[in-house]
Amino acid sequence: MAVLEGLEFGKSDFVLLDEVNIEQFMENLKLRFEKARIYTFIGEGVVSVNPYKQMDIYGKEEINAYRGRELYENPPHLYAVADAAYKAMKRRAKDTCIVVSGESGAGKTEASKYIMQYIAAITNPSQRAEVESVKNVLLKSNCVLEAFGNAKTNRNDNSSRFGKYMDINFNFNGDPTGGHINNYLLEKTSNNDRYSHNAVLSALNVIGFSEEEIHSIYRILGTILILGNLQFETDRESVLVVGMGDVSHIAELTSTEPDNVTKSLLYRTVATGGGEVIEKGHSEKEACFGRDAFTKALYERLFGWIVGRINAVIEVKDYNPVLHGKNTVIGVLDIYGFEIFDNNSFEQFCINYCNEKLQQLFIQLILCQEQDEYRREGIIWQHIDYFNNQIIVDLVEQPHKGIISVLDEACLSVGKVTDTVCLESMDVKLGQHPHYTSRKVDKTMEFHRDFRIRHYAGDVTYSVEGFLDKNKDPLFQDFKRLMFNSSNPVMKEMWPDGQLSITEVTKRPLTAATLFKNSIVALVEKLSCKEPYYVRCIKPNDIKSPALFDDARCQHQVAYLGLLENVRVRRAGFACRQAYTRFLQRYKMTCENTWPNHLMGTDREAVEAIVTQHGFQDDVAYGHTMLFVRTPKSLFTLEQERAALV
Ligand code: ADP
Ligand code: MG
Repeated sequence: MAVLEGLEFGKSDFVLLDEVNIEQFMENLKLRFEKARIYTFIGEGVVSVNPYKQMDIYGKEEINAYRGRELYENPPHLYAVADAAYKAMKRRAKDTCIVVSGESGAGKTEASKYIMQYIAAITNPSQRAEVESVKNVLLKSNCVLEAFGNAKTNRNDNSSRFGKYMDINFNFNGDPTGGHINNYLLEKTSNNDRYSHNAVLSALNVIGFSEEEIHSIYRILGTILILGNLQFETDRESVLVVGMGDVSHIAELTSTEPDNVTKSLLYRTVATGGGEVIEKGHSEKEACFGRDAFTKALYERLFGWIVGRINAVIEVKDYNPVLHGKNTVIGVLDIYGFEIFDNNSFEQFCINYCNEKLQQLFIQLILCQEQDEYRREGIIWQHIDYFNNQIIVDLVEQPHKGIISVLDEACLSVGKVTDTVCLESMDVKLGQHPHYTSRKVDKTMEFHRDFRIRHYAGDVTYSVEGFLDKNKDPLFQDFKRLMFNSSNPVMKEMWPDGQLSITEVTKRPLTAATLFKNSIVALVEKLSCKEPYYVRCIKPNDIKSPALFDDARCQHQVAYLGLLENVRVRRAGFACRQAYTRFLQRYKMTCENTWPNHLMGTDREAVEAIVTQHGFQDDVAYGHTMLFVRTPKSLFTLEQERAALV
């Protein structure tokens, strides 16, 4: 068994800080990172600092040490959190979820991978073949998405994933039976890695994609690359594609007609007021805009289609609850945390809104969970003092009044509406909101910063420039039709909406913000019936160094991940609870009145004796069946005493 850490490694749980303030938090985080302790608990969650070097802490020995143990019995580790989520699921038949968040490069994907590997390692002890094969596909599908999620083109025009959610289903034995993946894509405007064909290919093979499907995938990736280099020129009045070889190459790859490719690149079909359908030539700028939107959409649809194919493979089939018992779920969410850059735009607005929603969910889940348990155990309700961020969620998503609705109105209105006009109408509707301000009201706001939202984790100023364009569905129907008419069945399948004629296309398409909102609402719905566990990832520096702890960068992340708020919520309630029998079993040797056996009437009285002897009676409450401990400090003390005795 792993031994508890000594005090020279700092506090293993931020809840144990003498005072909850940013100085103490940072000091502890830095000390632990420098001592190669990359994990620190916040209650049942863990904070992770990317070590940027291989750590020797993910082996069989560690897995065995954490398996089935309580959190404070071992040093902080992802495995402790994964085990807590798994135990709750198995012992209490609760659906649980593990939320892994942090900025890009902070270690989310690695953490999710270790969590999945841990779950795979501790399940199916009897090695049943069908379970092993499910496990294998689940782990491999993660690789496919990673390999593919990293596929990037050589222009800043691709989409980037900012979130991935995977449900793993378990039977009553606690063995995996299947899963389901959701991906959250968002346009990103800085990428330039190149993708590795081999990684994608080998991963796709494992999942069982057909030869034809894999060829189609490569053809689409090829198309994306060509489009990335495609240029237009204006010759006198007309716009032309530079180098017609590219057009025929695209036609060949997408199994479409070269004439149709040219046409969709240079013209747009529009319905006039009188119901007439005409073809309107693009300006050079419009053609570039169309090309970029097409490139992005090709990538997005391809990715969406791959996820769909994987889901079909890992979907739980033939599950009969009568025969197989209750089906339970562990969800693993790998998602960007709060983002704040020098210039914050539509993408940060969406991600930060998503984090507000997750925080709101966190508050509700923790509160409900606590209230339920207190009631069951006959404990007097402890008021938890925290900031309720519902007001900010409303600011963004409220119908008719919220920022999204103002944006949508601006996008769908006829006539020319600019970003600035949109900002003005936000000012009119939201000027009085306590969490909103704009440069009109606050003259001290920097140039290029248009409005500010007071998020739960801090203030973020956004630049409104580009909001409207990013919110519109930028893809001309002509491209959709082009792809729908492809003679390649795989590609055709990705563009079902291409069969609509221009007059059938809905006049009020869903905007990007609304689609995003819908997907986040659906995500929150999925999570809301689950017991949450958290992994917060921090990137210690921007140069991938294992030795550098950049104080400013880290403090920034601690702030925007809301970690102090997290510690406060944890400290306000009861951080630990344990059934009397289990508590006794573990700690009876630390008290003369209970060792080797107690002679008191009830286990509860025996537990009281231990608690009193150690002097933390003010830190606990006694329930019907379990002991509630406010700060884990008390249990850590007991653990240390126990460790000295055994
Ligand atoms: P994210 O998904 O948050 O963008 P990743 O999980 O891909 O970040 O991590 C980025 C890189 O950091 C990895 O490729 C790896 O080199 C390093 N890294 C992250 N976590 C660990 C870890 N636990 N041990 C060693 N290296 C890590
Ligand atoms: Mg990642």
